Amino acid sequence: MHELGIVKHVIKTLREVAEENSVTRIGSVTLEVGEVSGVITEQLVDCWNYFRERDELVRGAPLYIETLEAVTFCTACEKTYRTVDHGRICPFCGSGETYLLRGNEFCIKQIEAETAQEPAREE
Ligand SMILES: [Zn+2]
Repeated sequence: MHELGIVKHVIKTLREVAEENSVTRIGSVTLEVGEVSGVITEQLVDCWNYFRERDELVRGAPLYIETLEAVTFCTACEKTYRTVDHGRICPFCGSGETYLLRGNEFCIKQIEAETAQEPAREE
């Protein structure tokens, strides 16, 4: 399963970032997923929920997913349009000479560290 591999990769990256920054617990993670990246976000969340209960670093941390709109550029008329609505054929001029500008990406946008609580001090 593709999504399983992604989650493993994300957790590996989190571990590296956590070590570099002396973070022992992740509070939340935000991912950016392109509309046509092929990633199934429901499966991604399912995998995340499975792993986060088995890993001390991310235990209980929510995964937020932001979808990036896919945009295609037409080289014939030099216009852009929504990829999901029209696919590879330009809706303005009917040309197939188009390419994807964005919407194929997948990245970790934000990692929120859960900072250790200061021990309460007696006044
Ligand atoms: Zn066009």
